[in-house]
Order: sequence, then C-alpha cells, then structure tokens
Amino acid sequence: MEILQRPVWIKKKINLKDCADVKARLKGLGLNTVCEEALCPNIGECFSKSQATFLILGNVCTRQCAFCGVKRGSPQKADPDEPLRVAEGVHRLGLKHVVITSVTRDDLPDGGAQAFIDVIREIRKIDPNVTVEILTPDFNLNEEAIAKVVEAEPDIFAHNLETVPRLYPEARNGANYQRSLGVLAYIKKCDKSMRTKSGLMLGLGEREDEVLAVFQDIAGTNCDFLSIGQYLAPSKAHISVKEYISPDRFIGYKKDALEAGFRHVASGTYVRSSYSASEYLESEKV
Ligand code: SF4
Repeated sequence: MEILQRPVWIKKKINLKDCADVKARLKGLGLNTVCEEALCPNIGECFSKSQATFLILGNVCTRQCAFCGVKRGSPQKADPDEPLRVAEGVHRLGLKHVVITSVTRDDLPDGGAQAFIDVIREIRKIDPNVTVEILTPDFNLNEEAIAKVVEAEPDIFAHNLETVPRLYPEARNGANYQRSLGVLAYIKKCDKSMRTKSGLMLGLGEREDEVLAVFQDIAGTNCDFLSIGQYLAPSKAHISVKEYISPDRFIGYKKDALEAGFRHVASGTYVRSSYSASEYLESEKV
C-alpha cells in the first residue's frame, strides 16, 4: 500500500510534558478521554490549555470504523458512578465548556443515552454555568432515546457524519449516512432551538462535489455548526490517508459551508469536532 508523504503544513508534534498536568489532575478518577483513546494529534495543545474531551461508557467500541483509534470489541459494563466522576473531572480542570462523547454501545437498549443524561445532570449540579456539549453515536436512530437526551438540554447536541456517503462501507462500516442525518434532523424535530453540530474528516478519497453535497444535506437538517478537519491515520492498520487537503482548500470549504447555511464553521487541518469547542457558542455573542 502506498503511503502519502506528509506535506509541510502537517507538522504538529505531541509533547508529552504538555499532557502531564491534566493527567495529574484527573488521577484517581478512572476516566477516559477521547484525546488519549483516539490518539488525537491535538492532545499536547489541548491538554496544555486544560481542555479535554471525556469518553464515557468505557473505552471499547461495538463498531469498527476504519479511521478510528478507539479499541473495538466487547464493551465494559456501564458504570453508574461514572457521571459523578466526570463531573468531578470537569471541576478539577476548571472547564467552562466541556465536550462529552462515548463509544458506540449497540449492546445497550438505549445506546447509552441515559449515561449522557446523567453526565449532563451531574455536571450542572456541580456548576450550572458550565456549558455542556455532547457528541453522541447515532443511537441506532432510537427516537425515544434521542428525545430524552434533548430533554436534558445539552448546550450543543453533536453527531458527526464523518465522511461522504460513498465512503461509508469502507470507512464507517456499521453506520449509515441517512440514519446519521436522521439523528440531526430528529434532534431539531424534538426542539428546534437545540443547537446541533456535525463534523467531517477529509482526505479519505472524497471528491469536492461530494463534500459540497454533504454540506447541503447536513445544512438541510437545520444544523447550526460544522467542523471540517484532515483525516490522519492513527496507525498503519487504519484506513490510509488518500489526500492531504491544502490550507487554502480548507478556507474554501469553510466559505462553501457558511454559504450552505451553517452559523459557525471551523475548517482546517487539525480541526476536530471537539477542538476549541467553546468557540462555537462564543460565535453567537459576536
Ligand atoms: S481536539 Fe478534542 S479530542 Fe483532540 S485533544 Fe483536543 S479536546 Fe481532545
């Protein structure tokens, strides 16, 4: 398999020293962060700013997305104390905005929806001013589960489309493009004032016309926010990078996405859905 040479603009190095403080402050809580589990290239930068994204419901996923660094297999039993420990972690890091995500839990009847609700409630008990963003799996489009999560009133309800529909069988086997769009649409059906957000990774072999069509599809659900970043393979065992998108094209895509109707778009090589996540809400104040 041919491996593409990384261009000059892909040069971020992870300094493990930058991660030490966050790890020390979370010590003893037994929490997982997606920053570590998914081998995020921004970990040094985010941890140095005390920003982290908590991964709930264990660190083993029931699906097998070919791009994702999270472990696959039989998941752990859901831990009823985890929401409280996440809230404590948010407090220890002094976060004003937190992103909570989970592995996909197709083994649970509600897909893990109750755990998101419990985490939102526990965080608000400790500090009602913390804004909470949840980045959820598709819950198999279980409408009852999604409606209950909406009722818990997260500040942002995010679900990532990740890539164009043609590449789903290769990159997101087990997921379904229309089902994921349906999640975003159903959140707005439950509460049209709920802010929704989605995310895309580029560089998996998608064409520009396909990306623009996805912008239209997501914006068609009245989705508010979009993140667009470069896919970087977590290891050689993962699906390979087919293209490095230039910084200029990321700027162009941001313009296209704003024209499609999103209220705020972050677009760039190292953008991830949880990267500088507080900026999406801050954009509303401008
Ligand atoms: S971008 Fe998100 S997942 Fe990556 S290190 Fe930052 S907070 Fe963690």
